[in-house]
Amino acid sequence: MADNFVLPLPDDFHAHLRRGPAMAAYAERHAASFGRALVMPNTKPPVASASEIAAYRREILAAAARASGGSFEPLMSFKLLGGMSRSAVLACAQAGAVAGKYYPAGATTGSEDGIVDPESAEEALDAMQEAGIVLCIHGESPEAPALDREARFLPVIEGMLGRHPRLRIVMEHISTVESLEFLRRAPRRVGATATAHHLLCTLEDLLGGELDPQLFCRPVLKARRHADALREAVLRGEPRLFFGSDSAPHPRSAKAARRAPAGIYTSPSAIPALAGFFEAEGRLGALESFVARTGAAFYGLAPPRGSLELIRGPWTVPEELDGAVPFLSGRSLGWRLGRIEV
Ligand SMILES: [Zn+2]
Repeated sequence: MADNFVLPLPDDFHAHLRRGPAMAAYAERHAASFGRALVMPNTKPPVASASEIAAYRREILAAAARASGGSFEPLMSFKLLGGMSRSAVLACAQAGAVAGKYYPAGATTGSEDGIVDPESAEEALDAMQEAGIVLCIHGESPEAPALDREARFLPVIEGMLGRHPRLRIVMEHISTVESLEFLRRAPRRVGATATAHHLLCTLEDLLGGELDPQLFCRPVLKARRHADALREAVLRGEPRLFFGSDSAPHPRSAKAARRAPAGIYTSPSAIPALAGFFEAEGRLGALESFVARTGAAFYGLAPPRGSLELIRGPWTVPEELDGAVPFLSGRSLGWRLGRIEV
């Protein structure tokens, strides 16, 4: 067995880098695995205007430059707010946004100001279609039971596809067989992201033994059959299904509180963990398209420049990094991150 493996520098099409004092550490950590990341806008304050996009990009670039010599590129998104005007959307496009993010109000962390009435986003969706901006959707119906929320939201996406015949849509962090089947039936302008945790973990890992708040996320981890379907899809290179980490760090103390917020800090360990999974399935070569080809092609971006070396482990994921508990902390992985070349 080779003792290293070189990937084209991975892209992450769904990342939470937060804002404020903790952001620099999260951005640096991200830049150790990824060349580009689509940065989610549900920060405090939210990124929902052209000026906020420019300011947030500057903050991220300043932080990431310290880690990677300036090779990390944030791909910017904005948060869709109810009643957002055409001109506001076009200004976000002018400011360089490649995507707008749709959060149903109350669906996840930082979505209190999300969309209550889908009608209120129609003008913005028309403008996104006009500007060629991708609509990224957190597809869960907050009023449905926790494990049914994703499947319950699919008709809303169906409606958007019908009303906006050229709009490109990404179903974020899909976690169910139903979403996978929807993706397969959908036109080619629909893509989806899958996370490492929804591939590698199930509801049993979250609550089958002792409750593990570090594995609490939205959408909630699902039963084995759903994870198995997603695994099978990525291993054989499902078209338009690509990696988005949904890395979502919370301070360790917040995760230990009486009410733990949703979100898993996956960026430190996602790529090594995925390499172990793909290798164990005899498909290590297929990792490249999942983390470094399919997503860029869907977004119409150039293929990644540069490469990431993975070094054969073992590597024990630390109990804490950047004040948060990383995904698979304490576990021994078969690969660890090596050098980035650009
Ligand atoms: Zn997210």
